Amino acid sequence: MSSHEATQSELLTRARAVQLGNYAPAPLVFTRGEGRRLYDRDGRAFLDLSGGVAVNSVGHGHPVLAAAIAEQAARLMHVSNLFYNDRAIELASAIVDRTAFDRVYFCNSGAEANESLLKLARRFHHEQGQGDRVELVSTHRSFHGRTLGALSVTGQDKYHVGMGPLLPGVRFVPYNDVDALRAVIGPRTAAVLLEPVQAEGGIIPAAPGYLESVRALCDEAGALLLFDEVQTGYGRLGTFMGAERSGVVPDACSLAKGIAGGFPLGAIAVTERLANGLPPGSHASTFGGNALACAAGLAVLRIFDEESVLENVVREGDYLGQRLLELATQLDAVVEARGDGLLRGLVLSDGVDPGAVWRAMLDAGVALTLAGGNVLRFTPSLNVTREELDEGLATVAAVLAKTAEVAA
Ligand SMILES: *Cc1c(COP(=O)(O)O)cnc(C)c1O
Repeated sequence: MSSHEATQSELLTRARAVQLGNYAPAPLVFTRGEGRRLYDRDGRAFLDLSGGVAVNSVGHGHPVLAAAIAEQAARLMHVSNLFYNDRAIELASAIVDRTAFDRVYFCNSGAEANESLLKLARRFHHEQGQGDRVELVSTHRSFHGRTLGALSVTGQDKYHVGMGPLLPGVRFVPYNDVDALRAVIGPRTAAVLLEPVQAEGGIIPAAPGYLESVRALCDEAGALLLFDEVQTGYGRLGTFMGAERSGVVPDACSLAKGIAGGFPLGAIAVTERLANGLPPGSHASTFGGNALACAAGLAVLRIFDEESVLENVVREGDYLGQRLLELATQLDAVVEARGDGLLRGLVLSDGVDPGAVWRAMLDAGVALTLAGGNVLRFTPSLNVTREELDEGLATVAAVLAKTAEVAA
């Protein structure tokens, strides 16, 4: 079957026959995107306020990003990590310049970045002669990825089903609970890992003072503090790193999702203290830091600067937050609005079927995602416009008003 001639329904039949059944996608095959618009095989347009789950940071088909990828693909894609390449050096420099971190390691995804953090934490203590510091502390409702290590520190049982035995030595505490953390942290703790806003868990921001308290507890206990900034980092909250406004600098953080605007790229950024935490031979990634992915990452930063994207996140994020608060007070289907920057959620009432809301939104032409089971999540590209938000919000209001009628 030539994919150029197949209809959408033929493609769907084919997909169900040849792709593994680990996803449950909507019955839509997208073939093109432009800005916040996605077009399916039948040519129907959708407003994308999901941004590919916080990945399409500068929208679909951005000409600067597309040109940078095309140019780099023709120039140099990959040389292995037996050599340096200019784009990786430039991107690492740019990240160091924009953050409190001093060193960068590149990989290809969020889970892989978190694996790298966990290995770094253990190996760092080993290098310090503290080889018994192996325990990892994570939080309930966290999400850190699907590889076995990242899964082992993910605090959601549904992802663990049938995957055990998982990594031993992991302790979970409730998020935003300083006393619970104090009770488990100690001389065997290698690191505490958490998200500045729990994203997949349901858009749960850190309480005021929480990150500061965690930093202090880690310092007292001699444990490393690691932030998973895969979803919150790189401008999503209106600052370059999500935790920036707290003033707390972790020893290291992970990045992925939006950092190359849709091209696969992950990274960890660390402070100088950890610069030698992974000595030569201790960790590696074949594709990590390839010139093509790094060129995409550099293009995203150029777009951030040229189009004042972070300012847009602050302005439009505040606006979206205000409008969602209004919806939460007006609509029976919504109990709460929460989030920060352009990472926002509407908590749906008991009795509202989140999957049905998600499907109704798609039927009405707007793509969103769910988080934490009952939260309608907004993660549009960071250069989303006021008009696009208004258009999407009008649909959200209409769909949720109807949903509440059905539930009542
Ligand atoms: C998406 C996500 C991950 C996993 O990233 P992958 O690229 O899917 O491996 C890890 N942590 C957080 C906070 C995420 O949002």
